[in-house]
Amino acid sequence: MASQGRTPADDRRSTLVPEAVDDFVDAFGGDVLLPSDEGYEEARRVWNGMIDRRPALIARCSGTADVVETVRFAREHELPLAVRGGGHNVAGTAVCDDGVVVDLSAMNGVFVDPDARRVRAQGGATLGDVDRETQLFGLATALGVVSETGIAGLTLNGGVGHLRRRYGLALDNLVSVELVTADGTVRTASETVNPDLFWAVRGGGGNFGVVTAFEYELHEVGPEVFGLFVWYRGDDASTALRTFRDYAADASRDGSVLPFYATVPELDEFPEDAWGESTVVFLGCYDGAIGDAEAEFEALRTVADPLVDFSGVMEYTELQSMLDEDFPDGLQYYWKASYVRELTDDVVDLVVRYGRESPSPLSTVDIWHLGGAISDVAPDETAFWHRGAPFMVTFEANWEDPETDDANVAWARNGLAELREMPVAAGAYGNFPGFGEDPARTLFGENYARLVDVKREYDPENLFRLNQNVVPDGATGAAR
Ligand code: FAD
Repeated sequence: MASQGRTPADDRRSTLVPEAVDDFVDAFGGDVLLPSDEGYEEARRVWNGMIDRRPALIARCSGTADVVETVRFAREHELPLAVRGGGHNVAGTAVCDDGVVVDLSAMNGVFVDPDARRVRAQGGATLGDVDRETQLFGLATALGVVSETGIAGLTLNGGVGHLRRRYGLALDNLVSVELVTADGTVRTASETVNPDLFWAVRGGGGNFGVVTAFEYELHEVGPEVFGLFVWYRGDDASTALRTFRDYAADASRDGSVLPFYATVPELDEFPEDAWGESTVVFLGCYDGAIGDAEAEFEALRTVADPLVDFSGVMEYTELQSMLDEDFPDGLQYYWKASYVRELTDDVVDLVVRYGRESPSPLSTVDIWHLGGAISDVAPDETAFWHRGAPFMVTFEANWEDPETDDANVAWARNGLAELREMPVAAGAYGNFPGFGEDPARTLFGENYARLVDVKREYDPENLFRLNQNVVPDGATGAAR
C-alpha cells in the first residue's frame, strides 16, 4: 500500500467516508491516489486531452485481490466505478468524476506458452507489451495497429488490426478471461466455464466485470512481414479509392489494407512542395509468404506516381508501432465510425470531400477493409454483432487547439451523419464511439436482448455502467 503525501485538509476526500478510505487503503496492495496526492494529476489523465475528470479515488491495482477490494468498496459506498485498461478509449470512460477508478495500468504482465501457442496477459497490458513477448517466439495474436493501445478495451469491444482478415477480431482469438464481477467474485469465462459470460465479454465491452487476465490463441507471425505504406497526391484520391475497391473485391485474407485520407505532414521524408496538401494513403500488412506480397499489392502501389512509398519488408513489431507517434497523449480527439456494406461512388466521394474539408491537418477519414476471418463467425456466436460488413469508415478528428473543439467534433459528426443516411451504412463500433452517444442497440444489434439477460445475472445493479451500457432493467438499448 502507498498513499503519497496526502494532507489532512483534502476536501475531495471528504466526499468519501474517511474511515472507510483508511480501511480500504490498509487492505490495498497497490497505490491509492487521492486528489491531493503527488501523481494524482497525471493518473487522472487519459489519452484524449478532451477528457478532464476528477475521480475521488484512483486505485492502482497490483493484482486481482486489489481489483476485488476496489469493486467491493465502490459497490458498498455506491460510488461510480470506472475501469482503466490502457486509458486509450476516445470517450474517456476509463475515468469518472467523484467516483472510483480501478486502474490496471500496473498489471501488465504477459506470459507466453509457446508450446501451447497461448499467451496470458494481465488486464492493463498494452498491445506493445503483448507483441514484444510473443514475437520472441515468432508468434502473435490479432490485436490493433497502435502499440500503446490497451488490450482490454480493444478486445472487449472487438479489436481490428493488421491480422484481422486472416485471424479475425482480437476477441475471436480469446481462449478465456479471468474477471471480477460486480459481487466481487473472481471468475473464469471460456467456452466451457461460464459460457454465457464468455459469450457476453466478447463484444459486450466493460459491462460484465473487470477483466484481470486475457488468454489468447497465438499464430506464427513474422518476425518479418510486408508492410504497405504508400502515399498519393490528393488529386489521385478518387482513382486510388476506386482501385482499392476493385482490389478489395478479390483480396487475399493474408492482406489487410486500410486506406485513409489525410494531409501530408511537414516532415523531411515527404517532398516539401506537398507539405500541407491532401493525400490518400494505403496502410496494410501482408502476412503470407513475403514473396507473394509484391503481387498482392501491385495494383495499390501503381495507382499513379506515388508521393512516397515506404512499403517493404519490416519487423512485425516495427509495423505495430509505426503509427505510435501520430497519436500523442493529451491532444484533442474525437473518433466515430459506421460499417459500410458497399463502397459506392457516393461513399468514396464523401470520404474525399470530408477528407479535403477537415478543419485540422491531423485528422483523417479511414476505410478499414474487414471481412475475411471476421465474417466467418456468425453474428450471434459472440456478442459482437456486426460481422458481415466488408468495410468500416471512421472519421478521426485529431487537433491541437481546444478553441477549435466544436468545429472538429462537428466535422466528424456531420461526416458520419451524412454517411449514415446512405442505405449501405449501418451500425457502430464500440472502440470508435465518439463520446458514446449511440444507443447500445446500434452496436449490439439483435444480440442486445441476450446481453441484457447476462447483465441481469452478473451485474443487476449496473455497477459497470461507464461504458456503452447494457441496461439490466430495460431492454430499450437507448443511450444513457
Ligand atoms: P480504456 O480507456 O482503458 O478503457 C475503455 C473502456 O474499456 C473502459 O471504460 C471499460 O469499460 C473497458 N475496460 C478497460 N479495461 C477493462 C478491463 N480490464 N476489464 C473490463 N473492462 C475494461 N481499435 C481497434 O479496434 N483497432 C485499432 O487499431 C485501434 N487503434 C487505436 C489507436 C489509438 C491511438 C487509439 C487511441 C485507439 C485505437 N483503437 C483501436 C481503439 C481502441 O481499441 C479503444 O480505444 C479501446 O477502448 C482502448 O482500450 P483501453 O484498454 O486502452 O481503453
